[in-house]
Amino acid sequence: MKRSLASFLVVFIFLISSAVQALAAEGTNERIQGADRFEVAVNISNKGWPNGSDTVLLVNYNAYADALSATPLAYNLKAPILLTHSANLTDATKAELQRLHPQNVIIVGGEGSVTSNVLNAVTALGIPNVKRISGSDRYEVAYQVAKEMPPSDKVVVAYGLNFPDALSIAPYAARNGYPILLTNSSNMPAKTQEALAIRNAKESIVVGGEASVSPAVFNQLPSPMRIGGADRYEVAANIIKTLNLNTSTAFIATGLTFADALTGSVLAAGMDAPVLLTAPKSLPNATKSIIAEKGITNFMFLGGLGSVSQNIVSQIVGSLAGLKIVVDAGHGGDDPGASGYGLDEKEVVLDVAKRVQLKLEAAGATIVMTRESDTYPTLEDRVNLANDQKADSFVSIHANSSLSPAASGSETYWNSKYFGNESKALAQSIQTELYKQMDTKDRGVKEADFYVIKNTNMPSVLVELAFISNASDAAKLGDPNYREQAAEAIYQGFVNYYSKR
Ligand code: ZN
Repeated sequence: MKRSLASFLVVFIFLISSAVQALAAEGTNERIQGADRFEVAVNISNKGWPNGSDTVLLVNYNAYADALSATPLAYNLKAPILLTHSANLTDATKAELQRLHPQNVIIVGGEGSVTSNVLNAVTALGIPNVKRISGSDRYEVAYQVAKEMPPSDKVVVAYGLNFPDALSIAPYAARNGYPILLTNSSNMPAKTQEALAIRNAKESIVVGGEASVSPAVFNQLPSPMRIGGADRYEVAANIIKTLNLNTSTAFIATGLTFADALTGSVLAAGMDAPVLLTAPKSLPNATKSIIAEKGITNFMFLGGLGSVSQNIVSQIVGSLAGLKIVVDAGHGGDDPGASGYGLDEKEVVLDVAKRVQLKLEAAGATIVMTRESDTYPTLEDRVNLANDQKADSFVSIHANSSLSPAASGSETYWNSKYFGNESKALAQSIQTELYKQMDTKDRGVKEADFYVIKNTNMPSVLVELAFISNASDAAKLGDPNYREQAAEAIYQGFVNYYSKR
C-alpha cells in the first residue's frame, strides 16, 4: 500500500524533529508526542513553526474554558499555541518561547487562568509585547478574542462547558476566519449576544446536539445551522461530513482532554486537515466509520501512547484495519476433540486461537472469538455468530488425529458454497505459512464439507495445525513456541491474503 510515498517519507524523516515519529514505512502517518501536554504543544510548534514566529498564544494547560476560542485568532496571527501552568512556565515552554523568538505573546485568559507571575516571566525573556485577553468568564474571553479578529459574515457557536465540540470545529473556523463564541445550553450569555451584534453576524454554525445548545439558544441565532451528534466522536465526524472537509490528512487526538487537540488545531488548520477524536484505547465507531467512508489514509496522531495508544494507531492504519475476523477454537467443554500424548485438542486450539487473536488485533482487525474459555458453542452457534456479525472472514482452528500414528503434517480446508475462490486463496495463504512455521509435512489445501466452513457466508477456512496422534507433531502442539509459530502462520496468512486483494 502506498509504496510511492516511501521516498517522500524518507525525506520527511530527515526534515522533521525527532519528536515526530514516522509510524509506518508505507504511509504518511506521524505522531507528535512528548513527555506531557506541554511538550506535545512544544513539538507541534516546532513542526509547524520551524523558523520561529512573530506571535505566540499562551494558555493554561489545565483550564480549557478560556482557551476554547483561541484557535481562530492563533491561525489569523499565524501563531502557535503554547501551554503554561497557572503560576509558572515549564522549562519546555520557556525554551520554545526562546526558540520562536516572538515579538508578541498573547496570554488568553484572566488572572484565574494565567497569573501575572507568568506574564512577568514571559516579559523577562525579552519579548517586547506581552498582552492579555481576558474577561470575567469564558463567554467574555471568547467575546474579547472575537473582537481581535477581522470581520466575518459567519460565526461558530459552541457549548462553553465542555471542550470537544469547540475543538473539533476549530480548524474549520480558523481557516474561514470565523470566531468561536460560547454559550450555555439553556440561555445565551449576554457577552455572546453582544459579540453577535458587534460582528453583525448573518449566519451561524452551531456545534453540538440539543443537550449542549438547546433549541431556545439555537433559535436566537442568525440563520443557524446545527452540526450535532450522539457524542463528541460523532460530532467531530459529522463536522467533516456536513462541511465536506478536505480529508487528505486527518489529525487524531484524544477526546478526553483538551490540550493536544487545542494546540494541534492551529497546525491542523494550516494543513487544511480536520481533527477527529478517539478514546485512549478503543476507536469509537463514529471515528472508525468516517475514516472508512472518506477513505482517509494519512494521519497525524497527537500526543503520547497514553492519549492515543498504539492499538488505536493499528486500528486506523494497520494492515488489517477495518476488518472483522471470527476466530473459532474448535471443540471445548464436554467435547475435548482429539487426544494424544497428554494433550486435548480443545486446549491446544484455544491457546493458539488466543495467540491469533492478539496478532490480528495488533494489525488493526476486530476479532470475534466463538469461545474464550473451556465452553462448547454448537457448530450452529459458531456459524450464526459469524453470519450475524457480518464478519469479513472466518478461521476455525483444529488439531488432526489418525488411527495411524505415522500420519502427520498440517493441512487447511475450504468449501465452495460461499466465496469459494476467496476461501481457497485464504486457505492457501495460511497453509503456505503453516507447514513452514510448524516445520511439519505439507498436506496441502483441500475442499471439505465441514459444517463451520460450509455455512459461514464469508471467506472461511478450517486449519488442522498438526496431528495430535503423531509423536513428533504432538510434541510441537504441546510446545508454547510452536503454538506461537502456528499463530504467527495463521496471522501472516491473513495479512498476505488481504494484501493481495
Ligand atoms: Zn477438531
